[in-house]
Amino acid sequence: MTATEPLPPGSIIGILGGGQLGRMLALAAARLGMKTHIFCPDPESPAFDVTPRRTVAAYDDDIALAAFAAAVDVVTYEFENVPVATARFLAARKPLHPGAAALEIAQDRLREKTFVSGLGIGVAPWRPVASRADLDSAIADLGPPAVLKTTRLGYDGKGQRLLRAPADAAAAFAELEPKPLVLEAFIPFDREVSVIVARGATGEIRAFDPAENVHRHHILATSTVPANLTAAQTTAAVEAASRIVAALDYVGVLGVEFFVAGDTLLVNEIAPRVHNSGHWTEAVCVTDQFEQHIRAILGWPLGDPTRLADVQLENLIGEAALNLPARLGPGIRPHLYGKREARPGRKMGHLDHIVLPPVK
Ligand code: AMP
Repeated sequence: MTATEPLPPGSIIGILGGGQLGRMLALAAARLGMKTHIFCPDPESPAFDVTPRRTVAAYDDDIALAAFAAAVDVVTYEFENVPVATARFLAARKPLHPGAAALEIAQDRLREKTFVSGLGIGVAPWRPVASRADLDSAIADLGPPAVLKTTRLGYDGKGQRLLRAPADAAAAFAELEPKPLVLEAFIPFDREVSVIVARGATGEIRAFDPAENVHRHHILATSTVPANLTAAQTTAAVEAASRIVAALDYVGVLGVEFFVAGDTLLVNEIAPRVHNSGHWTEAVCVTDQFEQHIRAILGWPLGDPTRLADVQLENLIGEAALNLPARLGPGIRPHLYGKREARPGRKMGHLDHIVLPPVK
């Protein structure tokens, strides 16, 4: 189903997934006078703390999904591994934004690369790998070094191995199979950047300024804005992200991650959702990524993504979140996600370090 009219304040937004992104979407929705209903299998989900409407059930529980669909006016999701069958089940009952097609592409690295390169946008050279023989010939074509990845369910560096030499192939293949795999050429990038872009129900597109991202142990550590890009690279990154949402007939916010190597810009990954490297928009933009997503799925006009200050987002991972009061100071805007256990590698919150501009 698709909505034809903008949804009015007081509407109920159904959100699949109860992590920090769902929580931040629910907070943004509340600021626009909306209600939210979170659907998540985990009863400890941080998003449950900020809205009273919840369903704790599995994503393949059709009875719970049908009741959820009946209780909401529009459905969205906060993570890209929502089963496509779940998305289709809900889309048959209520407007679903972004649509199931975006999920299908983003869930599978082979589809993603085929789709992005089909738009004339660069990606790292790659080969599908279904067998050891495929891997050996892919290494002969592309590397080493090269990166072997599962095509599905990889995040924060999970499901990937760096192959420094052909001799690394056997162990990496044994660890990652029987899953379908892809081998990518290793890109000796100068930097990684991302563009958070939104497309509204009428097709209007707005992008936030690109952020420069540093990962530690494969987890995002910092996002700095402005990114160290030339004007031409900035334009090219925003233009590529805009082409992707237009081609998907997308409604909502989408994150596009790029490798920048010399003059070359390659798409690493697309995420059909609000994105960690866009959390700084809450601190320094007229409209932040969460409000932008909510506006888009409601059929409202998109907001103004203008950035009012330079900023660095710092993720608080694991125990880094425990001494928060000691980290506070001028220009620092904290955001904690309300997770109970500060496990290693777990994203607990973030700080936005705002470069305070002079005010008259
Ligand atoms: P991914 O899960 O594909 O987003 O990869 C996680 C991180 O691993 C990226 O942000 C890069 O820092 C690194 N990485 C992934 N693929 C490559 C590649 N083909 N070449 C160089 N670094 C990579």
